[in-house]
Amino acid sequence: YQRIVLASRPRGQVVPDNFRIETADVPELAEGQLLIRNHYLSLDPYMRGRMSEAKSYAASQPLDETMIGGTVGEVVASRHPKYAQGDFVAAMGGWSEMAVSDGSGLRKLDTAAIPLSAYLGAVGMPGMTAWYGLNRILRLEPGQTVCVSAASGAVGCAVGQLAKLRGCRAIGIAGGQEKCDYVVRELGFDACIDYKAGNLKEDLKAAAPDGIDGIFENVGGEVFDAALARTNAFARVALCGMIAGYSGEEIPLRNVRVLLTNRISLTGFIVTEHLDCWPEGLAELGKLVATGQLKYRETVAQGLAAAPEAFIGLLQGRNFGKQLVKLV
Ligand code: NDP
Repeated sequence: YQRIVLASRPRGQVVPDNFRIETADVPELAEGQLLIRNHYLSLDPYMRGRMSEAKSYAASQPLDETMIGGTVGEVVASRHPKYAQGDFVAAMGGWSEMAVSDGSGLRKLDTAAIPLSAYLGAVGMPGMTAWYGLNRILRLEPGQTVCVSAASGAVGCAVGQLAKLRGCRAIGIAGGQEKCDYVVRELGFDACIDYKAGNLKEDLKAAAPDGIDGIFENVGGEVFDAALARTNAFARVALCGMIAGYSGEEIPLRNVRVLLTNRISLTGFIVTEHLDCWPEGLAELGKLVATGQLKYRETVAQGLAAAPEAFIGLLQGRNFGKQLVKLV
């Protein structure tokens, strides 16, 4: 089977040569292990941080080892008492066609009402990120306004839809008219602003005439500054991501004074540090996806060899919705 390892650490932008594809033999299973054929690999912005050596909240990805990554797949052989051949599971199977597991961290999946790939998006880590930031950090009242950046993406799309379900006003920020049209027409946000159109501040003012009570920040830099400028007193910020700076770009926060003048509370969070919330959140997200109340879109690259380019595309905003790689 094939797998992709980290060949070198990127300096600035990720390039294809940072990765190397290798062929490996399927190992014999030991007692307690199972073998998974990965159907989909999830590509996520956090992987850029792991590729660096810089200290962060998680250890960096070792060179020459299979790239870390969330996967969904089918158990093809099992010597584990809780998993049988034919079971579908979510795992950290990595950038690889096959994965061996001892069962730790696995989640058994029911694909009757929820498509397998959704467990990497709306009913997986990105969906939980939206759920946690909204419910545990922003805690908005009905009628209040939330502003979310990267609004058409895996996390952002769920933020606005969940906020609407709770009776809030949802404003998105996204790159390009096509993404903005989708966010409003398909996802039901109240407005979505194209930050590439060059009129961000004025457009945001028009979209949020009563100000912003909660910012769900995914991007950082100018986009974040513009949203801060429209906050109401005692607004809250769920600082989820700053993708505009992941390749080493400067993302200065210019509008610092507003943190004081509007008495803003800002909370950064890492969703995998709040696993206690996952059962409740995933149950709700699963129900909403199964009943069609939570929509999502996917960009699917075909075959493991396409993963590096797709990942580079994700970091440059070429994805439209959750970025996946289909392996089977
Ligand atoms: P997305 O599906 O949103 O894809 C990334 C998107 O970021 C791009 O499509 C692009 O959309 C947008 N983007 C905005 N500005 C830039 C820029 N300067 N350069 C490149 N892309 C840009 O990814 P996710 O939903 O998976 O992740 C969204 C954010 O949430 C990320 O910051 C990520 O790190 C964070 N995150 C945080 C977690 C946590 O626990 N704290 C967990 C999961 C995700 P556009 O074209 O609209 O600009």
